[in-house]
Amino acid sequence: MLSLAVFFIIGAYVWGVCMRNDDVREIKTRLSIADIVGDYVALRRNGKTLWGRCPFHKEKTPSFSVSEERQTFHCFGCGKGGDIFTFVMEIENLEFKEALERLAEKAGVQLRRFSGNKAENGKTVRDINIAARDFFIKELGGRGGEAARAYLERRNISHEIGRRFELGWAPASWDALHGELLKGGFKESEILEAGLSVAGSKGSYDRFRGRVIFPIYSATDRLIGFGGRILDGDGAKYLNSPEGQLFSKRNNLYLLNKAKQEIRKAGSAILVEGYMDAIRAHLCGFTNTVASLGTALTDAQAALIKRMADLCYICYDSDSAGQEAALRGMYVLQRQGVAVRVMRLEGGDPDDILLMENGAAIFGEKMAEALPLPLYHAEIRRADLLVPGRAMSAREDLLDGLASLSPFDVSPYLDKLCGILGLFPHELQREIEQRRQKTGGRDYSHPSERVFEMSSECDVSPVSDDECRLCSMLWDNSELRSSYAPEMVVPFVSDAALQNIISALLMGEKPESLEERWRQLGDTKCLQLVARGNSIIERETVARDSFSSLTDFEVSNKIVDSLRRKCMNLRLETLRKKVKNNATTADEFKEYLRLNKMLKGGNSGR
Ligand SMILES: [Zn+2]
Repeated sequence: MLSLAVFFIIGAYVWGVCMRNDDVREIKTRLSIADIVGDYVALRRNGKTLWGRCPFHKEKTPSFSVSEERQTFHCFGCGKGGDIFTFVMEIENLEFKEALERLAEKAGVQLRRFSGNKAENGKTVRDINIAARDFFIKELGGRGGEAARAYLERRNISHEIGRRFELGWAPASWDALHGELLKGGFKESEILEAGLSVAGSKGSYDRFRGRVIFPIYSATDRLIGFGGRILDGDGAKYLNSPEGQLFSKRNNLYLLNKAKQEIRKAGSAILVEGYMDAIRAHLCGFTNTVASLGTALTDAQAALIKRMADLCYICYDSDSAGQEAALRGMYVLQRQGVAVRVMRLEGGDPDDILLMENGAAIFGEKMAEALPLPLYHAEIRRADLLVPGRAMSAREDLLDGLASLSPFDVSPYLDKLCGILGLFPHELQREIEQRRQKTGGRDYSHPSERVFEMSSECDVSPVSDDECRLCSMLWDNSELRSSYAPEMVVPFVSDAALQNIISALLMGEKPESLEERWRQLGDTKCLQLVARGNSIIERETVARDSFSSLTDFEVSNKIVDSLRRKCMNLRLETLRKKVKNNATTADEFKEYLRLNKMLKGGNSGR
């Protein structure tokens, strides 16, 4: 009970600082969960429930259920569940606030807290970014943008293409953008915070100067920053917005906002290095292409891809720096459970190849010929393996890489690898095995199994279906809630979280306010339990189980009855042992007799 009290106090506190629950309600009534989920999962109806293959774990038969009536989803395989907000947060990797804004936009709901009093809060980084983007676009079309236009023309980027990808030009002046933004009503501190200006000893100056600008969007279509390619003069070839409130290089990929649907549809992504490569690939019909925003691919980026596809083609520059960068990125991906295929382009970057006559066809061929990771790694070490001074380190590097992969990812290529390394299969296997043991008990199970094991540990609690079902019935039905005193039910619920929910409901808490509190606390477990109960109710209704002809009240009575019996049986078992050992007190013996009689007589004491 203490935890419950704390729960309420924190809830009440958080309540005060966050936005109104009404917005959440309003969005929920306007949007259908079937539509939201349907953008990501193919759903088929069976009775009241919609079923599909879970987007959060690998499965062949659908165990992912959506209840339109109750506006929740639940996966019977991995246990994930919740409402539209939870779903969008999970699948797009968003914070609640971002999911709220996104769904509000979709529903046409004006959020009062975030947008209502903007003048008071100051403009957001996003507002500044949008103003900057428009400035860069205008400059590219203006008189000062001539050199940039000529550069883009040389790269076969027409005016229309430039507009489509919102390319821009940051003039080579010190403070053109800075001045423009100040004029636009933004504060100096806000411009600095957005990373568009840099504070200097003689005042602030523009971060991007003399660069062609590529706006960078998050997967969810929000303008988060910019990449700039220098035209001439000193400075790094590429410069990005600094890491900050919105922009995080490691969590985003260039053009993912445009590519994500196609990646899901194709079941694969193409990963390139440069902005221009990505744009060209899109123009040539490879619309599942994204670019990494720096050199090394991060775990977070790999996880982004993994959520949308199981296969990733890597198409980096053919120079050796590109190759080594690609290799590291590939191991990151493969360890995330994304199968990696490396495309080998001779003589140029993807942009060059695609611009050739029949470029798209050649690119397609290179995709078909792309090498799986173990073979690619062996191929790029092949030459070194023959040079006495380098053979040793090349071999070690390759074997270490192979040992870091799951046996499932390596075994199809054992024969070829043996050929390249000059080993017999049993020797190669021994080498790999020794390295695996040295790294000490890492998890090399196949990713699909790993996902399942992980989820069965973390998400699928041993909560009984009956307890979940009862909780959701109470959640849905206020009449039912008023028919039970807490002490008639709560002590017999074994799961602590469900016990808390049921107790709160029976003490008169409204489901809406409980839900709001969980949201504020970032507690996803409780809503997950309610969603699970919802799915169980709907599934059983279709299955026409023993409850199907009963009223809600009769069903809940039966469940409460059976939970109570279960508890009493446990207690009786304990007492029986004591009786056997002659260790009971007089009271305990009385209790033993009473329980024995009740359970035999089918009267559970109500
Ligand atoms: Zn699942």
